[in-house]
Amino acid sequence: MTEPVRVGELLPGVVDEAIARAGPGYDRWAEQVAATGYCIHPVRLRGRVDHADPQTGEVRTVYSTDREPDATLLKACGNRRVSVCPSCSATYQADSFHLLAAGLRGGKGVPETVAGHPRLFVTFTAPSFGQVHSRNAQGLLVYPCHPYRQGQRCPHGRRLGCWHRHDADDPRLGEPLCARCYQAGAQVLWNALAGRLWSRTTIYLYRTLAQLAGLSETDLRRLVRISFAKVAEYQKRGAVHFHAIFRLDARTACGCAACVAPPPAGFTADLLEAAVRQAATTVTVRCPSPSDDPAAPELAAGWGKELYVRRIGADDGEELTEEQVAGYIAKYATKSTEALGVTLDHRIGEADLEELDLPIHVAELVHTCWELGSRPSLARLRLRKWAHMLGFGGHFATKSRRYSTTLGALRRARVVYAIRRRRGDTVALDAWGRPEEDPGVIVVASWSYLGSGYQTTGEAWLAASAAARAREMRRIAREELRTMTAA
Ligand SMILES: [Zn+2]
Ligand SMILES: [Zn+2]
Ligand SMILES: [Zn+2]
Repeated sequence: MTEPVRVGELLPGVVDEAIARAGPGYDRWAEQVAATGYCIHPVRLRGRVDHADPQTGEVRTVYSTDREPDATLLKACGNRRVSVCPSCSATYQADSFHLLAAGLRGGKGVPETVAGHPRLFVTFTAPSFGQVHSRNAQGLLVYPCHPYRQGQRCPHGRRLGCWHRHDADDPRLGEPLCARCYQAGAQVLWNALAGRLWSRTTIYLYRTLAQLAGLSETDLRRLVRISFAKVAEYQKRGAVHFHAIFRLDARTACGCAACVAPPPAGFTADLLEAAVRQAATTVTVRCPSPSDDPAAPELAAGWGKELYVRRIGADDGEELTEEQVAGYIAKYATKSTEALGVTLDHRIGEADLEELDLPIHVAELVHTCWELGSRPSLARLRLRKWAHMLGFGGHFATKSRRYSTTLGALRRARVVYAIRRRRGDTVALDAWGRPEEDPGVIVVASWSYLGSGYQTTGEAWLAASAAARAREMRRIAREELRTMTAA
């Protein structure tokens, strides 16, 4: 959350803006700010909602922004990224958590029997593109970074080893030992293909599972379905990796998450794990050649050797709970490149290239995207467009259709709940005072977009102060609840 500006630090003009906003209409404005969940740059809308009676042709306006402060309605920006809007990102994270957890333990319309399905938590990594400084720790013990024989050097005269025991916050972590030995080009190409490699893997998984079950792929697909949810994360070196939940279901005719059923006997977590491991080592996607030479060798992108597979809810002593997995993935769903020590959330234009305020290694990867992006053979990877993502143009968070409920359904449920709470348990009435649920009335909404963000710095400051107060109130309420339950 942006720190609220202290009053003493406010510029005189901003004070005037804040005072103007705090005048008549403030209460309703503050109500709107609270309704956006204290979004830091809400969308401003103007418009109205009419009810039309098809019997009589009469039209009545039930809501109009004419009655709102500045004739404007504020709506949350809804951005998932914590670097863009901390408030909306917190909502997104909470929704993602509920969605992911429902796919593991049931609820939100998903049957609770899913907790009995084979479920895995898997991390797919990128291959090595060259040695980078890394922290190797086991508990409190930290090992040297790359303990090579002293004195060995690369063709560029750089030391081949590094005997440092790096701290967790060492800015060198992820930096190559030799920038010239490091295959930055291969890495951005791999990032660009990672999304395709992921979707290929989810398809290929049926093939490996069929082989292990001794069935044809067609027969297997008649019996089971592999549901999944995944999120992308940047490693310090700037390569993308994926954290995924896999769940084995029975093939059901119905396409909704409510009809999910356990797979037939014999389809165990062991079998699923073996299939995932086999798919991860086998699957590749073709990589377009960076050179125009027709004799250049064919390239392919596959997963790195490191693959982490864990059972969810397994009774094996080091149990990984549904909540831990859902919390972990939901947290990454709101991030982008933060792990690199920078946030790159805007596209990079040619003019920005000279003044990139980035760690050297990250800047090198951005430049590599730009350089490779000019080659006709790589045009379809659109490396320049995705330079700020170091080549990765895929989705950060995805799920298969039957994995769980949807974010849209969770949002709609929240809106319905908020309306219920506001008006109590009374029935909603239409413009003529009849129950709104009765068929007949036609609802016509018309909105126009005015802009995004608060209109003045003074307004933004007032909104930030209101957000800080709301957080404080929540903290006090939580504390009081704790004292009450402790007493
Ligand atoms: Zn927002
Ligand atoms: Zn090192
Ligand atoms: Zn070198």
